[in-house]
Amino acid sequence: MKTERINGERVKVMSKILIVEDEEAIADLEKDYLELSDFEVTIENTGDKGLETAMAGEFDLVILDLMLPGVTGETLLQQIQDIGDIPVIVISAKVGIDDKVDALLGGAADYITKPFAVRELLARITVQLRKRDLSARAGQTAGPDSCQKDQRLTVGDLMLDPVLREVSSQKAQDKNTAVRLTRTEAAILRLLMQ
Ligand code: CA
Repeated sequence: MKTERINGERVKVMSKILIVEDEEAIADLEKDYLELSDFEVTIENTGDKGLETAMAGEFDLVILDLMLPGVTGETLLQQIQDIGDIPVIVISAKVGIDDKVDALLGGAADYITKPFAVRELLARITVQLRKRDLSARAGQTAGPDSCQKDQRLTVGDLMLDPVLREVSSQKAQDKNTAVRLTRTEAAILRLLMQ
């Protein structure tokens, strides 16, 4: 449950989740559990329908299966990112490290392998929504600048700004020597630093 300002008043609103999953039993299990946890849930069972619905509704999060009839989950992941800043949690039977890395570098917020526990799914959803809430609030109270600052990662002397895709050293003699990275380089470095 999140809160939103409607006509100046804070009102509790259900977070909206879109599940794109072709295995009916799994989709229903996820839906039942999430509805009990006060989420508003929509299920689509093909990639094409998933994209259509994602574009039509304002979802807070998408749960995405990779192996889908029609448009694949991998393609859908790209398309959802073109719509806007919606966190996507991939749930897949693909357990290979390459599949995970590809999905994460491709913009997935998280990756869960099947079989999974719905409690774990709920925890991961909560983490993503909390993150989104925090950055939205930071953006509201202090402008886009502080939102950007919050996303910076520091490990040892190394600092990465994933928004500007700049990496710099915190050592005094190396100050002001930021290096601009490609999208892929920045994504890999961010993954390693996290
Ligand atoms: Ca599937």
